[in-house]
Amino acid sequence: MTTVAAAIAIGLGGTATTATAATTSAATPSATGTATGTATSGTTAAAKVDYETWKRDVKAVIDQARPYVEQRTQNAGDEKQAIVLDIDNTSLESDFRFAFPAPAVAPVLQLMKYAHTRGVDLFFVTARPDILTLPTQYNLETVGYPVAGLYVRSLPDLFEEVAAYKTAKRAEIEKKGYTIIANIGNSPTDLVGGHAEKTFKLPDYDGQLS
Ligand SMILES: [Mg+2]
Repeated sequence: MTTVAAAIAIGLGGTATTATAATTSAATPSATGTATGTATSGTTAAAKVDYETWKRDVKAVIDQARPYVEQRTQNAGDEKQAIVLDIDNTSLESDFRFAFPAPAVAPVLQLMKYAHTRGVDLFFVTARPDILTLPTQYNLETVGYPVAGLYVRSLPDLFEEVAAYKTAKRAEIEKKGYTIIANIGNSPTDLVGGHAEKTFKLPDYDGQLS
């Protein structure tokens, strides 16, 4: 257990990606614009993000995602539907509860469990390095996520920009025959690059949350 915790610490440090100047572009239309509106309230760049504020801001975005997921998963027919998720501060409360296993982000987990009952497969695409594959998969499954696929960065991926790496993984998921109905993340690098019908942006407070 001790070694796992140490590995996590290294991994999270490694994922402190410098949010490059990747701005939300025309490649990610959708709910992003409105969904981020509440995310930046009450914090400054140097301020520590307040846990209660963060939870409220996350819930506001997921409240917008829920009706979309409900509607989009109706009558899916033969379509293989997928949702792609970032992990840190999107699926798991990584920056707020430094524990292993880290707790799930409750409203995200709840919506994803619902999506899964509607036949949607969940794919997790993270900037965490591949040394963390097993503890990450264990963490996600222990807190209740049904994991159809987990993408971590292998050594060559570590030299690639995070946004390009994540976009390539979504393209890979599409090649398996999936339609990615939503991509949910908290950093701009999770969401740019297309390959998702809609993007939902959780708060990162200008890069304060990984
Ligand atoms: Mg994140």
